[in-house]
Amino acid sequence: MKVLVIGGGAREHALCRSLSQDPAVTELHCAPGNAGIARVATLHPVDQLDGAAVTALAQELGADLVVVGPEAPLVAGVADPLRAAGIPVFGPSAAAAQLEGSKAFAKDVMAGAGVPTARSYVCTDEQEAAEALDAFGAPYVVKDDGLAAGKGVVVTEDRAAALEHAKGCDRVVIEEYLDGPEVSLFAITDGTTVLPLVPAQDFKRALDGDQGPNTGGMGAYTPLPWAPEGLVEEVLETVLQPTVDELRRRGTPFSGLLYAGLALTSRGTRVVEFNARFGDPETQVVLARLRTPLAGVLLAAANGTLAELEALRWDEGAAVTVVMASEGYPANPRTGDPIEGLDEAEADGTAFVLHAGTRTGADGEVLTAGGRVLSVTATGQDLAEARAKAYAGLSKISFKGAQHRTDIAAKAAQ
Ligand code: AMP
Repeated sequence: MKVLVIGGGAREHALCRSLSQDPAVTELHCAPGNAGIARVATLHPVDQLDGAAVTALAQELGADLVVVGPEAPLVAGVADPLRAAGIPVFGPSAAAAQLEGSKAFAKDVMAGAGVPTARSYVCTDEQEAAEALDAFGAPYVVKDDGLAAGKGVVVTEDRAAALEHAKGCDRVVIEEYLDGPEVSLFAITDGTTVLPLVPAQDFKRALDGDQGPNTGGMGAYTPLPWAPEGLVEEVLETVLQPTVDELRRRGTPFSGLLYAGLALTSRGTRVVEFNARFGDPETQVVLARLRTPLAGVLLAAANGTLAELEALRWDEGAAVTVVMASEGYPANPRTGDPIEGLDEAEADGTAFVLHAGTRTGADGEVLTAGGRVLSVTATGQDLAEARAKAYAGLSKISFKGAQHRTDIAAKAAQ
């Protein structure tokens, strides 16, 4: 099988790593990729938002499967010309990706499907926003309706700050605050059959103890020893399957990865958000535990044959990933610094490095090229072991101004 992966972050590196270990995969390509992905796949400098260019590349390569990683190309509709050309693609159409591309659309789908989520108002002017804020009270939750690369959501006790954020957006969703721990549950679907993966938790804040600004995610772990028994079955029944059924009913079937961000509140499980793709950094740990070869699973989703697939097999142990970010991340990340110790981190085989914002310099050296630079992942019999190995690997890597959290999975490992 010839596989082309679209994207260039740690999620795509994790996907490429798993695909490269699948004996069914004979050729692996990635566009645009990064310095780490270059070690397992052939890179192509193609604009990931350009559906025609991506389709032309897939045709030229004779790709049997295209996997679209990030939300931006999905929401831009890159999967559509691929499908129209008869190429199996893992990732939803532009219409179905609106589940992530528009918070208001997601709320409408959830209402139609009877999926439990925060009560909300969609507001288009300041007065409506002010009324919605007062209807719910503090803490205030204000969400830009469109894609905002993780910067669209403000949760604050400060009414003025909440209103200020609302004023900066064309259309906002203002909703009730959900308390309780958060869980990320991914499911692979072909538009009818839904296959949940193992739940994971990520760490959104930049600093230890969940302090500092929101980021794309600073680390993740799986399994969740504290999660209630039966959580996956409950979410499949009350969230994932009804959402997939509702989108099919609307004539916009969702095929690809449905990501449910959940809050386990005192009043039950609620959807915080949907994403239309694998989450980063949870993908690093979820795929680290998946034993079933990945390509066949993604192809079955693309071809609509998931119902025929054998049950997924999982490593019984645990996985932890820790992100190393550049100085100034998330506000003003500095880039262009050489990264030392990448080989040392993987030398004894206990941890592996997945690149996010990296590029290869003129002399073959690896340079930082983004806010989240890389993540170090390890598996173990339990979270304590996986955590120790991930941090041991990370300690070998250095670059100027590098920052990371020291408490990823710490509480859960106790
Ligand atoms: P989202 O982009 O919707 O995932 O929001 C980013 C983060 O904001 C989430 O991971 C939550 O930590 C927080 N958040 C979003 N919606 C709510 C809510 N209704 N109540 C509390 N926190 C929220």
